[in-house]
Amino acid sequence: MKDKNSLDQISIAAESWKAEQVTAWAFDTYGDKIAIATGMGVEGMALLDIASRVNPNLKLFTGDTEFLFPETYDLMDRVEEKYGIKIERLYSQLTPEEQAEGYGSELWARDPDQCCALRKVEPLKRKLATLDAWVTAIRRGQTSDRASVRKIDWDAKFGLAKISPLADWTREQVWSYVVRNDVPYNPLHDQNYPSIGCTHCTRAVKPGEDPRAGRWSGFQKTECGLHTAAAPAAPLVQLVSAGGEE
Ligand code: SF4
Repeated sequence: MKDKNSLDQISIAAESWKAEQVTAWAFDTYGDKIAIATGMGVEGMALLDIASRVNPNLKLFTGDTEFLFPETYDLMDRVEEKYGIKIERLYSQLTPEEQAEGYGSELWARDPDQCCALRKVEPLKRKLATLDAWVTAIRRGQTSDRASVRKIDWDAKFGLAKISPLADWTREQVWSYVVRNDVPYNPLHDQNYPSIGCTHCTRAVKPGEDPRAGRWSGFQKTECGLHTAAAPAAPLVQLVSAGGEE
């Protein structure tokens, strides 16, 4: 199951599977070469809880842009304690200070695609190169880029299988699961932050706004680049050699 063709048939069959079945199939199929990616949002917490029942020794990683909310860092600690796991944190090759030196201050306010490419996409790309499959908590209802995602799919951008057990869940189903099972979640969700990313690019939403309206407010951007068809350009060469990391 290491290429697109070998996944086609199972991908169609899996569309009628429940999240637990999809997750169990993925762990059975990919063994040590699969890990769960989470941005610590409520969907990711539901997915983690489901997956931990299937495989308590799961591997979980998250992108730490170093610009996250204190509540998000606190949630990471609570998750590690509750599930007895160590979350792997993926960092940019550039510290925030090196990024400011190379690209100017507040890159996120001028070119959020490039900032996300440096702080989110490139670290993820490095991580995914070590895996045969990754599990994500994305739902079709979240953005237009996610509308056609399959539960078991081939990720052509990163070259591995992409498993999305919650693809057909609604936001209401996610919350119902989280409340019913006492799953930890970010308290900012209760303060009108339905979608939470970096402090610089996340605000609370107003009544009636789209749940993702608080992300990159003022820009057309709706995705950081992890779940879109093509990655934003990440011109790292000059800075990586200057920064001397990795
Ligand atoms: S969400 Fe904002 S601050 Fe975070 S990496 Fe993307 S552009 Fe930069």
